[in-house]
Amino acid sequence: MKHLVVATKNPGKAAEFRDFFHAFGINVSSLLDFETPMPDIEETGSTFKANAAIKAEQIAKVLNQTVIADDSGLVVDALDGKPGIFSARYAGGHGNDQKNVEKVLNELQNVPEKERTARFVCVLALALPGEETVFRTGYCEGKIVFAPRGNHGFGYDPIFLPDGYTKTMAELTSQEKNRISHRKHAFEQLTDWLKTQVNSD
Ligand code: IMP
Repeated sequence: MKHLVVATKNPGKAAEFRDFFHAFGINVSSLLDFETPMPDIEETGSTFKANAAIKAEQIAKVLNQTVIADDSGLVVDALDGKPGIFSARYAGGHGNDQKNVEKVLNELQNVPEKERTARFVCVLALALPGEETVFRTGYCEGKIVFAPRGNHGFGYDPIFLPDGYTKTMAELTSQEKNRISHRKHAFEQLTDWLKTQVNSD
């Protein structure tokens, strides 16, 4: 495998995938690199894995190429796993980070520190035309703080305190975050599989 497409229109995410696969001699293009518009994919699955598969497999079908997609979100134990697959639209609408954060903090108002355990989850789906889709999952364990802190990152970063750190994800630099993130851990899980692929077409 010398080339693959990442099923995202988000330039930051595309750059993260490009950096990772570059180390294996694999070129990555994203949906932003195609002149013909790509279909908007509806995430109709009920798990991270199902949604990652939908994105990767539908685009792989359109392009007849190897496609990787991810699906990620925040899982809070005291909220029975919510926001989960609804992380981007937890407070309604899509991608209102501040409202999503407020909703989680409100719901955890009376939950003591030791019960505020949570994790970011990232599932990668690699759809290979004519073959079974390959899945890998990465986690970043931590706790939800009582008030937002920090300006870096996005989403729930200001309220997520990674285990072993005194800074929230939004107080860490992007380099520090990228060393411990759920996406990084999912990429690491894919490494062994990729090593078996570098010499194949
Ligand atoms: P996506 O799967 O990358 O689109 O992420 C879905 C949602 O999960 C985002 O809109 C965020 O709310 C949340 N999320 C995923 N990854 C992160 C992260 O690294 N930090 C904070 N929030 C995240």
